Amino acid sequence: MDDHTSTGLSGYSRRRVLGAGAVALGTLTLAGSAAIPRQRTPGSARATTTPRPPAPSPAPSKPPLTLPVLKEPVRTLADYRRAVGGPAFPSDTIALTIDDGPHPVWTPKILRLLEKHHVPALFCMIGNQVLGHEAIARDVVRDGHHVANHTWSHPTHLGKRKRKLVNKELLRGQEKIHDTTGQTPALFRSPGGDWSPGLLREAAGHRLVPLDWSDDPRDWSRPGVAHITRRLVAARPGQILLCHDGGGDRSQTYTSLKTVLPALRAKGLTFVALDRRPRLEV
Ligand SMILES: [Zn+2]
Repeated sequence: MDDHTSTGLSGYSRRRVLGAGAVALGTLTLAGSAAIPRQRTPGSARATTTPRPPAPSPAPSKPPLTLPVLKEPVRTLADYRRAVGGPAFPSDTIALTIDDGPHPVWTPKILRLLEKHHVPALFCMIGNQVLGHEAIARDVVRDGHHVANHTWSHPTHLGKRKRKLVNKELLRGQEKIHDTTGQTPALFRSPGGDWSPGLLREAAGHRLVPLDWSDDPRDWSRPGVAHITRRLVAARPGQILLCHDGGGDRSQTYTSLKTVLPALRAKGLTFVALDRRPRLEV
């Protein structure tokens, strides 16, 4: 609908510009004719004042097939705004991203925690984890969170992989997440944050914004609740936080978030779930 509207507006603007141009041209010709009376013939006057036929409607504008290729993935909210445009986030904003799910145990638990603290998040889902856990993936979206493409099978060293494999990973992940949740991911996170110029180019080709994070609390390595909590609570406005609901036992992450979410809110931070149309906490 947006594209249709903008096509209509640009068509309107174009006609106005053409109309203004015709008036200006007529004025210029008449002024010029006044200076050179010999050229002021009825024929030439008619020629300049005859209304032009209506401008043909411009061809419908199509959305660009690719996005601009970024040199680096998005790591902060300021990076995100530079990549997708739009007004800057309020200065107290922060984003939470949750990777590697959906998981039958940890995702529902984390969803309840997010609901309790009114925190929206971005879930970076793996296609083959959505497979078999479709209802949980739908619960994520039903709760108002956003989803990102985290590949089909979470291959390591994706930045060095062949283009054919990268394309397959992005496409299958995108299709599974979309077909299951109805949301079309706008963001792509490479497994382990493994990027390369070629991978950034492929992401743009799939119309996906490459997304990294500001700080890794390494919750995936189970370093202990205290460690995860300390790292996450130290978060500053404008950062993109990383934690995990999939990939194994996430009890440390879950326990940590029980402290971290209210602590960050108590610090006055506002959570935003990243997407093309970000959702702020309510
Ligand atoms: Zn991952």
